[in-house]
Amino acid sequence: MLDVLVFGPHPDDAELGAGGAIAKAVAEGLKVGIIDLTAGEMGTLGTKEIRLKEAESASKILGVKFRENLGLPDGYIGLDISQEDIFAVAKKIRQYQPKIVLAPYWDDRHPDHAASSEIITKAAHYAKLKKFNLEHPQHKIQQLIYYELNGQFTPSYIIDVSDFFEQKKEAIMSHKSQFKEFSKEYLPFPLVERCAYYGSLINASYGEAFMVKGSLKVDKWEVIINK
Ligand SMILES: [Zn+2]
Repeated sequence: MLDVLVFGPHPDDAELGAGGAIAKAVAEGLKVGIIDLTAGEMGTLGTKEIRLKEAESASKILGVKFRENLGLPDGYIGLDISQEDIFAVAKKIRQYQPKIVLAPYWDDRHPDHAASSEIITKAAHYAKLKKFNLEHPQHKIQQLIYYELNGQFTPSYIIDVSDFFEQKKEAIMSHKSQFKEFSKEYLPFPLVERCAYYGSLINASYGEAFMVKGSLKVDKWEVIINK
């Protein structure tokens, strides 16, 4: 059983949106895996082979248990979501039985990112329905959590990634074919500024924003009171 399963549309998206939180989860002893939906073969820069190698070195930096590529058609998932796409993700959720699934936020100008969000959201639903035959026994995740790529939201919570920001930057810069004109100091989006902004909201150097649909439940006061 896995603690956190992170889905990314392209081979660099998991680290762009949640690299700090992933490294932090690993440091806390959680079992984390990443599954990229596409190999990014339609991207202007890099080839499928180069991008898979870059994703492999990035995941070593983050320390995740595994990283897989689902091989869905890059570029085309943004045009048309198929039942096969949804079931391919649902099968992975059932196979790895994660407690938490991370997915990109649905409101994103890149059609692949928006489509991936929808695919993963629907997959989490079908993964729990017993009568759908998806190779593995049904599995209900505890929480589906969205991370930011191009779009922004009002966060449900911000994870303090100050101690893991270097790791995040290194993981991103492993994708050399994508970020030739960038450096650790000048990342795309602009990511450093965004994480510094979220950090400033929680009195930390750097933060990453996450959102859940609906409200977060608090069972016990000890969740919100530091002892
Ligand atoms: Zn992407």
